[in-house]
Amino acid sequence: MKTAKFLFLFVFSAITFGCGEKKENNEKEGFQVKRTKESVKEEVDENVIALSSNDLMQYDKNELRVKAGKKVTLTLRHTGKLEKLVMGHNFVLLKTGTDIGGFATDAAASRENDYIPEGTESVIVHTKMLGGGESTTITFDAPAVGTYDFICSFPGHYSVMQGKFIVEGS
Ligand code: ZN
Repeated sequence: MKTAKFLFLFVFSAITFGCGEKKENNEKEGFQVKRTKESVKEEVDENVIALSSNDLMQYDKNELRVKAGKKVTLTLRHTGKLEKLVMGHNFVLLKTGTDIGGFATDAAASRENDYIPEGTESVIVHTKMLGGGESTTITFDAPAVGTYDFICSFPGHYSVMQGKFIVEGS
């Protein structure tokens, strides 16, 4: 669908390109502005995020951006080989104002609950803990416009495995 639209836009541009008459130029510009807006709208209908993690205790991104008012579909992959018990990774999105160090300390003591403190009110959403070769996908509503922290709550990982989750207005 998108390809078809872009192809159409390309062909249309090619046909009208080089036309010197003012009236037709205006029409062309008006058309292009309209198409561009529609394309952008289509792209933000859903926020699709892919985040990867590995045996070196790293995420592949330290900044994720989504649009407010839309669903977020986030897939976390663990591309390593190590077991969950020694190199587990998850994605934990924290509420604004959460003390990351304090939360991580509580999380580290919550092994029986997949390293999420039971009854915590600091978590917006989180994935399950993954071992090497595993992946998981979660879907949630984008939180309000703002900047949030995300971490891996496996003991000792948050200091390296953390980043900003930025929700932008549409
Ligand atoms: Zn981890």
